Amino acid sequence: MRGGDFLEGSGHVKFLKSFILSICIVLLTACNVTPPQDAPTPTSSTTVISSAVPMLTVQFIDVGQGDSILITLPNQQHMLVDAGDLGSEHILVPFIEKQGVKKIDYVIATHPHADHIGGMEQIIKHFEIGKVYMPKATATSKTYEAVLQAIKAKGLTIAQAKAGVSVIDEQALQATFLAPIGAQYEGLNDYSAVLKLRYQDNDILLMGDAEKTSEQQILASGAYVHADLIKIGHHGSHSSSSPAFMKAVDPKYAVISSGKSNRYGHPHKPTLDLLTKSGIAIFRSDVDGTITATCDGKNIVVRGEK
Ligand SMILES: [Zn+2]
Repeated sequence: MRGGDFLEGSGHVKFLKSFILSICIVLLTACNVTPPQDAPTPTSSTTVISSAVPMLTVQFIDVGQGDSILITLPNQQHMLVDAGDLGSEHILVPFIEKQGVKKIDYVIATHPHADHIGGMEQIIKHFEIGKVYMPKATATSKTYEAVLQAIKAKGLTIAQAKAGVSVIDEQALQATFLAPIGAQYEGLNDYSAVLKLRYQDNDILLMGDAEKTSEQQILASGAYVHADLIKIGHHGSHSSSSPAFMKAVDPKYAVISSGKSNRYGHPHKPTLDLLTKSGIAIFRSDVDGTITATCDGKNIVVRGEK
């Protein structure tokens, strides 16, 4: 295991047991019934409560050179940020179905490059979809047109992803866009919807392919950028992850999604050097496969499948 410090292997089983146990205790207390002799006795109520906390799970799915992040919220709703490259639907649809997901409550396309929206047409067609968020960026590719058509055909509308827009705003859980801030950029990457997830004390920052221009604007906006885990911008390219931005984020973990031997040479050495020098634990999809971060609101455990 790399980087983890709580929640060993059987977390789900433990959680289920504790949850059932807490229900039993509540029911027995409410009915004033003495538990039967063979009923398990909790060591302390604190233990039962702390292990029964709902989890936020973020899975960085190995789609090769591209991004796709499946998030299971503490209330068991689901969010998908990006859908890999063309053909990624053959990985994504079975992966998501295998987890028993029928509805994706929130779909976010960070920006209209094919390595982020390639599998999205089929995702939209295949699953029940709640809300769809995209930045206001124009693209003329057939891939993008197909996604727009699939959205329209389902009677869905697109909400604009931009700085300040709140996707979820609950007491314990917030999902807010920190970017894009500007209306016009030179390249599509800087239009990326940058999402900040906050679950109690846990912060996760998903950068899409945002580059240094967007990073500077985010810093200048005064947004709270610190995160325990960051999905590094633009597959670890030197176009992103400026030292000033990374210093402000000050993460413990960095996730890089990049394909094995990709033609761009991602992740680039300066990015890896900066992360290593800063003592940040690096997880890479080309090395670690699908990467899973599990958060209980206080601690985060990150694991690669390989
Ligand atoms: Zn990309």
